[in-house]
Amino acid sequence: MTHPETTDSGTPVLIASALQKSYGATLALKSVSLSLYPGQFVALLGPNGAGKSTLVQLLSGLFVPDRGDLSVLGFDIRTQAPRALAGLGVVFQQSSLDLDLSIRANLLFHTDLHGIARKTALQRIAAGLEQHGLQGQDGVAVRALSGGNRRKVELIRALLHQPKFLLMDEATVGLDPASRHDLMRSVEALAQAGEVAVLWATHLVDEVAHADRVLVLSQGEIVFDGLPSELIAQSGGLSLEQAFLQLCPATRNGKS
Ligand code: ADP
Repeated sequence: MTHPETTDSGTPVLIASALQKSYGATLALKSVSLSLYPGQFVALLGPNGAGKSTLVQLLSGLFVPDRGDLSVLGFDIRTQAPRALAGLGVVFQQSSLDLDLSIRANLLFHTDLHGIARKTALQRIAAGLEQHGLQGQDGVAVRALSGGNRRKVELIRALLHQPKFLLMDEATVGLDPASRHDLMRSVEALAQAGEVAVLWATHLVDEVAHADRVLVLSQGEIVFDGLPSELIAQSGGLSLEQAFLQLCPATRNGKS
């Protein structure tokens, strides 16, 4: 998927500059800089422990960086967090749905938090459910849904306040191949339609093949930033997987 008309154009949805974050003696992010533009689908690829979740947590305002600057949708995350977060949608690695509540109740909780009027909320919920093949199921308890459908509900929820920037943190973990494929295509379509910029964090090489841009994160540093084809070329034209193994050798040894 490429749409060069939106690449590097418009106001960046994200500008991160020399971000650093430690947990005690563990330096999780060393000096990470990146920018993201409207309509881009950017994959953040890294082995376990590379720092992907830490980066997502900084971008979503859960932690503040020890050093560096970060603005989301033009708002400084340190001083203008509420305005930055108003335009951000996040699907975290761990599900945060209330299993005993219905889909509708879970989604209304989110729209209430964002101050969205009930009538508008119900319209958006109905449209989101229909778009993801869950129409008529709003009264169903989340516990009764498959893992794939729970993730769809989380994606619908992340989009209800119409964010301009969508963060997906290892969102396909635990999904069967068909659900994984559906989720990826749905999110790619949103970016392609210019509705959101997407940062898709994953440790799965095959999930980056259709990205507009791939960032490879290894041991807290971005070691590659470019097109999937350029990543392949870097390994002598072998494959994405070979390129990834060459860039993150610890993965091969099971050290990370
Ligand atoms: P990834 O999401 O790529 O697997 P993480 O951001 O979870 O990577 O982890 C990066 C590094 O920070 C790892 O060495 C991990 O062990 C460490 N780390 C992550 N979260 C914490 C935490 N809450 N406390 C201490 N160390 C952490």
